[in-house]
Amino acid sequence: MLVLDLKEIFKISDRFRGSYTLKPEDVKLPPDIGELKKPVRVNVEITKEKNGYRLKLGIEGNVELECSRCLEVYEKDVSQEKTKLLQNTPSEEGVIMLKPKDLEVTFMEEPDKVDLAQLVREEIILSIPMKPLCRPDCGGIPGYGTGLEGEKREGSFAILKNLLTEKEGGK
Ligand SMILES: [Zn+2]
Repeated sequence: MLVLDLKEIFKISDRFRGSYTLKPEDVKLPPDIGELKKPVRVNVEITKEKNGYRLKLGIEGNVELECSRCLEVYEKDVSQEKTKLLQNTPSEEGVIMLKPKDLEVTFMEEPDKVDLAQLVREEIILSIPMKPLCRPDCGGIPGYGTGLEGEKREGSFAILKNLLTEKEGGK
């Protein structure tokens, strides 16, 4: 676990920068989402704001995914940069924090503590499509097509046509 204690950090400074290498076992990506084979590079820059901490998160890495059409395993680049506002979870009713329009707010589970591995895991999960494709025009498994066109479709058309012909013939 890689947890930054923001309260301690901002006692001595008003800006924090750090670079980390997270191993796959640190990120703990759920296996049904994809597989991390190599470490992920993470850059963070944190500044203190009136209503929380502004965090710039840079991620560099690749995830192995299975193409939903041809079932081949391929690597997807999940590198990205995000800026978000970290806030403490409001503990009392009535303590409603102002939500800036331009920033995504993430609540810290523990006051003033941010778990980088968790943040990275969440961002990677969010960047993985529901139906991953090795390439946008993936033709599917050779001989089977994508399941959307070709023989299968012709087949159901033929069945439909036969049904209609039978009906007409029965009149
Ligand atoms: Zn494919």
